Amino acid sequence: MSIERTRNFCIIAHIDHGKTTLSDRLLESTGTIAEREKQDQLLDSMDLERERGITIKAHPVAMRYRAKDGHDYRLNLLDTPGHVDFAYEVSRSLAACEGALLIVDAAQGVEAQTVANVHLALKQGLTIIPVINKIDLPNADLPTVKKQLEDILAIPADEAIAASAKAGIGIQDILEAVVARIPAPKAQDDTLRGLVFDSVFDGYRGVVSYIRVMSGSVIPGTAVKLMSTNKSYEIKEVGVFTPKMFQQKQLNAGDVGYFIANIKSTAEIKIGDTLTDARRPASEPLPGFQEVNPMVYSGIYPINTADFEHLKMAMGKLQLNDAAFVFQPESSVALGFGFRCGFLGLLHMEIIQERLRREYNMDIIATYPSVIYEVIRTNGERLEVDNPANLPDMSVIEEIREPVVKCFVMIPNENIGDMMQLMLDKRGTVEHTESLDSRRVMITATLPLNEILVDFHDKIKTLTRGYGSMDYEPAGYRASDLVKLEMLVNGEPVDAFSSIVHREKAEGRGRALAAKLKEVIPTQLYQVSIQAAIGGKIVARENVSAMRKNVTAKCYGGDITRKRKLLEKQKEGKKRMKAIGTVNIPQEAFIQVLRTS
Ligand code: GDP
Repeated sequence: MSIERTRNFCIIAHIDHGKTTLSDRLLESTGTIAEREKQDQLLDSMDLERERGITIKAHPVAMRYRAKDGHDYRLNLLDTPGHVDFAYEVSRSLAACEGALLIVDAAQGVEAQTVANVHLALKQGLTIIPVINKIDLPNADLPTVKKQLEDILAIPADEAIAASAKAGIGIQDILEAVVARIPAPKAQDDTLRGLVFDSVFDGYRGVVSYIRVMSGSVIPGTAVKLMSTNKSYEIKEVGVFTPKMFQQKQLNAGDVGYFIANIKSTAEIKIGDTLTDARRPASEPLPGFQEVNPMVYSGIYPINTADFEHLKMAMGKLQLNDAAFVFQPESSVALGFGFRCGFLGLLHMEIIQERLRREYNMDIIATYPSVIYEVIRTNGERLEVDNPANLPDMSVIEEIREPVVKCFVMIPNENIGDMMQLMLDKRGTVEHTESLDSRRVMITATLPLNEILVDFHDKIKTLTRGYGSMDYEPAGYRASDLVKLEMLVNGEPVDAFSSIVHREKAEGRGRALAAKLKEVIPTQLYQVSIQAAIGGKIVARENVSAMRKNVTAKCYGGDITRKRKLLEKQKEGKKRMKAIGTVNIPQEAFIQVLRTS
């Protein structure tokens, strides 16, 4: 297909607004797949993803469409992951397109994720076609949604296409709009520049990489190189997904498809990298490439220490298809041998943990997640700390900086008061509040990433009875009054419970953790002291009193010497335990504390 008759686009939408259903419809009405083939749908394959209503990876699909102008067009539909954790991957998929369908649910209206995604698409200069979906619903409210498009997203309302993916309304209009409104790709010259926007590991084929050819051609048998690593490879095969892999002689400028080369693992191929001709390379790589770095770290430990090797293997397998997930061995005094793992965000972390549990049957415990702190030492040295246990002594620290995010929260009007309080509790600064319609407001705020990691989203859902939504984008680092909180058991710091917290919150958290520990540490023969310390200063203390075994109960009558001997022995026992300073804390106790903290 010629470059003038090619259109590359993706669909951006908030969860549940109908992306999957509309994709299916487009594939059906272009005859790409038949209704009966839908079970092995490609745009949403993993169970876990389906459950959570997110897509992490799906391959692009090439459709052929005969437009009203009588010409055949090649429409390439690219998928975008549906969550902000994968914002960089989304941005690279968007960069491979000239346009995007923006789906908004006619009854729900614009949601937080819609705003974040539109920002990304506009940054890439994409043509946006707004689609108001689910107009078949009795509570569809077109005028309000149109007003929201204009007011919140600055998209002209008369551009919107009213549709129902379920009832098959407006599908033809959408296809025509893709042809008419989205510009054809343009190539600057004939030098090969290919944007690699994803890659998967296939057990039989090896690494299959998804590519958008910006200029030049990718031809099997030729030598190419990836510009970020400068490594050369030979192209073995190229093709498109129709939706099955369909081999082609070559991929040309404007095309979206796949290539297979002698690349061994997905770790070698970086999302956003530029593929070029090894003999006649482009002088500059395509713009926008970034190394993706994890944003959130957590320790993952096998509950049964014998499972260490098995866990390592399972993590290695997950990494094959997810180069953004990183792990390396670490050990904890409390939890034994495990791994320090890095994730793109909290959802990414939950997905990996869930997959380890479900697909690999691993019984694991994860430590409290931590963000990456930038620490400036008094000698000017800068270091990154992702594990609270590695924070240097406060006396040699000049400043600690923490990552912050810009957060969009959409909630019903009546919850504004509670939401403002929650923002305050989470150390957020509200930038502005905007009315969405007569019922809802959007609050834009800056918050420390650390504060939204664990229960922010759940709290929003609870306080709005499920009606609130939120999304966020990274907004750099800022200096903050942070301290290391340590928990000591009989004077010994327990690494698994260390955390970096804001000074104002440290004491409260220390007290709560001490109280929880008191609850879960069983009574021992000797007294156990539990302390919370901030920079060596004890801020909370709890004691688990000694179980006073009535050792003399057995001694009937008046054998006083025997009684005394027994009491002496008991005292010695206490002393010995105290001197060693070890306490028998059952693993279960750690699990409970880490789960509740
Ligand atoms: P996604 O999360 O954006 O991929 O959304 P889905 O395509 O999975 O759709 C979410 C839910 O909305 C499903 O239960 C669909 O059946 C339903 N749905 C999608 N489009 C329509 C529509 O046009 N009308 C109605 N009534 N329901 C729809």
